[in-house]
Amino acid sequence: MTRSRKPATIVAAARPSADAYAGVTPPIWLADTYRWPDADTKPDYDYSRTVNPNRDLLAEALAELEGAAGGVVTNSGQSACLLALLLVPAGGLVVAPHDCYGGTYRLIKRFADEGKLRALFVDLTDAEASAAAFAQKPALVWIETPSNPLLRVTDIRARAAEAKAAGALVVADNTLATPVRQKPLELGCDLVMHSTTKALNGHADLFGGALLAKDPALVETIQWWANAAGLSGSAYDASQILRGLRTLTLRVDRQEENALAIAKWLERHPQVLAIHYPGLAGHPDHALAARQQEGPGFMIGFRIRGGDKATAAFLAGLELITLASSLGGFATLICKPATMTHRGMPPEAQAAAGIDGDLLRLSVGLEDADDLIADLERGFSAI
Ligand code: PLP
Repeated sequence: MTRSRKPATIVAAARPSADAYAGVTPPIWLADTYRWPDADTKPDYDYSRTVNPNRDLLAEALAELEGAAGGVVTNSGQSACLLALLLVPAGGLVVAPHDCYGGTYRLIKRFADEGKLRALFVDLTDAEASAAAFAQKPALVWIETPSNPLLRVTDIRARAAEAKAAGALVVADNTLATPVRQKPLELGCDLVMHSTTKALNGHADLFGGALLAKDPALVETIQWWANAAGLSGSAYDASQILRGLRTLTLRVDRQEENALAIAKWLERHPQVLAIHYPGLAGHPDHALAARQQEGPGFMIGFRIRGGDKATAAFLAGLELITLASSLGGFATLICKPATMTHRGMPPEAQAAAGIDGDLLRLSVGLEDADDLIADLERGFSAI
């Protein structure tokens, strides 16, 4: 029954089944350790690095949202990424998108440089390039769609099937789309990863991550590694992320509505060189996004005419929109990926991925769309 509940119900219903005081909201179980009835009877909750009720509540809600058997709540998106990479045998090949999140790129690249694994960064939206990479029998294929910051859309169903046929585990970073817009496990992935720092928490006030798996045996494996490597999130953060998650569906609806209005406005603006938003008919992956996602999301990439100088003047002219490098929160943020989120990528990798100096990334928040558009116009007027 629970598997068919709608997202808005799942997040509201995530409450403990047994709590001494029957509170409507869950308490925060801060204890680091738990009393054993006797030395031979391990309680369900024994030590909080291993297992914690707040993390369990959050993991169960996220698993239900994603259609996973279960998963692990980690202390950041990057620790969830690390946890997935711990599944790669020594020297195994990881295939990742050439325009994946800069921190993911940095971690995989460093592991490869140190000989811990092998890495191939390819354009997973390109069927031929993907087939050539999969022919090398990867241990793990990393999907991130829509991509960050270019909002390219990878065909998850096609790539996951090909990667699995090649014997790989397939993980999708679903941070940008969120489970209320895209379900990678239903499309054939084995694992789904999140930076819960972003839209799932939505309040821009903590760090967190999650890695969820479809197969119960894989859930056990990632739980084992998270405990062994000490990657778990804190009880407090888990309780706050669950609090944020309660309003996920409302926030994403509003953010997406704003993003669509802004994207349509930017598309017509004479000072805009290019716009990347899957909700626009002109986006090369518009049809795929419409098929694969339940909405185009709240992220927009756009390029400004006039190069670096114009970009700097535009950013300096903004008053409402904040220049900062996160996404998915209540407040609209803008960033220049080349020097901010993707600075971990060397210039040649940025060039290959299409991350130009005049490319800006907008994470649209909950403000009034007219006020956001007025602020963007203020930026353009400052050029
Ligand atoms: N994945 C994506 C798509 C991201 O945008 C980020 C952070 O910006 C991460 C992973 C890493 O998450 P965290 O900053 O929570 O470690």
